[in-house]
Amino acid sequence: MKWQGRERSSNIEDRRGQRGGRMGGLGGLGGLGRGGIRIPTGGRGSRGGISSLIGIVVVLGIIWFATGQNPLDMLTGGSGTGPSSSASSTQLPAQGQDELADFVGVVVKETEDLWNAQFAAIGENYPEPTVVLFTDAVNTACGAADSSVGPFYCPGDSKVYIDLSFYDQLHRQFGAPGDFAQAYVLAHEVGHHIQNLTGVLPEFNRARQSMSQEEANAWSVRVELQADCYAGVWANYAGQQNLLERGDVEEALNAANQIGDDTLQKRMQGFAVPKTFNHGTSAQRQTWFERGYRSGNPGDCDTFSGNV
Ligand SMILES: [Zn+2]
Repeated sequence: MKWQGRERSSNIEDRRGQRGGRMGGLGGLGGLGRGGIRIPTGGRGSRGGISSLIGIVVVLGIIWFATGQNPLDMLTGGSGTGPSSSASSTQLPAQGQDELADFVGVVVKETEDLWNAQFAAIGENYPEPTVVLFTDAVNTACGAADSSVGPFYCPGDSKVYIDLSFYDQLHRQFGAPGDFAQAYVLAHEVGHHIQNLTGVLPEFNRARQSMSQEEANAWSVRVELQADCYAGVWANYAGQQNLLERGDVEEALNAANQIGDDTLQKRMQGFAVPKTFNHGTSAQRQTWFERGYRSGNPGDCDTFSGNV
């Protein structure tokens, strides 16, 4: 992707090196009972109050196991206590991450330009999301999160959260190298922000409370595929801006393939359990990204009527 030298977004919140994701961010646990599935805080996230966290981790572990793990997520809920202040900065960003931060800033700016134009075309303003860069763990309005969950969007504070080390993981663990694979990840999360504005996310989060896990998974797949389609719409826009290089779209399609539920599950456990899919199969994710890319029109991203 030809991104160097381009303008960066002013909506980047750099919290790298801060310590987050501790007990303060969990607040009361009321959110759990109201259907907000919070991110597990196990592993590196549980620095403080380990014993009191165990119960939470077990509960969340069960939910997480049932729903399956998938990078590129959106959080439900959003009725959290809001971000709490973070402690001192002690760590420096790892080497090579400043260029990544610049890259993220440019991609986010390009998504802002696209969605500002799309909203303006229907006479609306586009409230731009904030993108938070963090290391290891972070407090969000959706609760405390650990970087092991991958990049995610929190509707409660309209922020996208990403630990840039995910990009290394995307390359090495998920077999999806390339800067346009990285751009796809951001455009997908911004897609969830669009869904928060159009009402798709709030409706899903309301409806899922009276659904079985299997029904919620099926609905989640449609939500995720629409975010993939919106990422494709953005890729089309990036093409119009002459930002695409040879192989870029293939990098995004490869990423969509590598993080399809069936591919991920087969890699992790040797077999796939379709009723647990909550992001879509590799074929579905590629199809919807490509549909958005070909048309460039978010109106063609209706994943809620008919079969996906
Ligand atoms: Zn997603």
